[in-house]
Amino acid sequence: MAVHNVTLIRGDGTGPELVEATRRVLEAAVGKFGSSFNWDVVEAGVDIMETAGTPLPANVLESVRKNKVALKGPITTPIGTGFRSVNVALRKELDLYACIRPCKSYVGVRSKYDNIDLVIVRENTEDLYAGVEYDLDTPEAQQIIAMAGGKIRTDSAISIKPFSITGVRRIIQTAFDYAIENKRKKVTAVCKANIMKYTDGLFYRIAREVAAAYGATFAPGTPAAEKPDPTLSAYAGKAAGIVYDEWLVDAMCMQLVQKPENYDILVMPNLYGDILSDLGAGLVGGLGVAPGANIGVDTALFEATHGSAPKYKNQNKVNPTALILSGFLMLKYLKENEAAAALESAIQAVIAEGKDVTYDMKPDRNDPTAVGTAEMADAIIAKL
Ligand code: NAD
Repeated sequence: MAVHNVTLIRGDGTGPELVEATRRVLEAAVGKFGSSFNWDVVEAGVDIMETAGTPLPANVLESVRKNKVALKGPITTPIGTGFRSVNVALRKELDLYACIRPCKSYVGVRSKYDNIDLVIVRENTEDLYAGVEYDLDTPEAQQIIAMAGGKIRTDSAISIKPFSITGVRRIIQTAFDYAIENKRKKVTAVCKANIMKYTDGLFYRIAREVAAAYGATFAPGTPAAEKPDPTLSAYAGKAAGIVYDEWLVDAMCMQLVQKPENYDILVMPNLYGDILSDLGAGLVGGLGVAPGANIGVDTALFEATHGSAPKYKNQNKVNPTALILSGFLMLKYLKENEAAAALESAIQAVIAEGKDVTYDMKPDRNDPTAVGTAEMADAIIAKL
């Protein structure tokens, strides 16, 4: 029994209706086991921009820093206003360095595949997303071009791809910690080290060192670590029985299309993780059912993979499942394990019945029996 202080960021577009549906479902789930939420409801996004002068008012970050847990509706990235993505800013400001996106098949969701249960662990702060870019014809770009000694054309714009030992170590640790906590069997490191020998090469080197320090079993053919990571001796043996292997990202894409059932936890740098997250969502039925968690040292923010779908705003139409499943991940993070299990069963039951589901889950998207966002939430609450 607990009272959980959680920041609720309503978002914009379809965000507020999805957040409201999810809030009601989560309250019902924890209420069943005697717990409750003390929500701090805050506004971010294009709707607040006019009055606050920014899409990310200071009170939003203050609230998340205080509560350390947040549930967030999708937020539009305003185009042509000079503001960068609020979503990226939140992850950066709060140093939410790991994005965890489970891709799990649920009976009743239309997909070409079934029995998929993958988790994508994406690094959230480095790589080509670090925001170190130099435009065409700037002195910085010209300086780098001169440094490259003829390898870069003079009419180039440049993005820099930094990987650090610190950044790689903590994302690989996140993958193993998640595997241990969720009793998973395999962690696969994915990158392109055959071409990017220093950046992606570092990713594999540190991944092997962490895997060795945790006592994972290296799959046949996976190169051994030069040495176990000396900073992680406290973790010795923690990943006993968990297999560590490696795939190059291009080959991994084909594997995921042909034999997705062979994979368990996939850990990768930021850009590959962005792309493979959508691939993973596609394997299990699309964005409507793809949840996510952004995790830092002591702070976590839960949000769906999808965006604000602004064309459906205020229509009580879009699918709340992805955000409710993100709430399910939040319940697990808050150690509300019984409530989480009950919620997952309730979602599964509603989807499997296929009656009280939104338009995108019906075989025909124009099916008049499709229910709205709020009614699908009601059906899940009824199953609880
Ligand atoms: P989107 O995910 O918002 O929508 C694309 C399409 O997917 C929609 O038109 C709709 O057909 C479908 N869809 C999305 N969510 C759905 C749901 N819950 N139920 C049913 N169908 C759903 O992607 P977009 O149109 O590229 O982006 C819109 C805005 O959202 C952009 O400004 C983008 O930057 C932003 N965005 C925000 C986040 C975030 O908040 N984390 C993530 C992605 C995109």
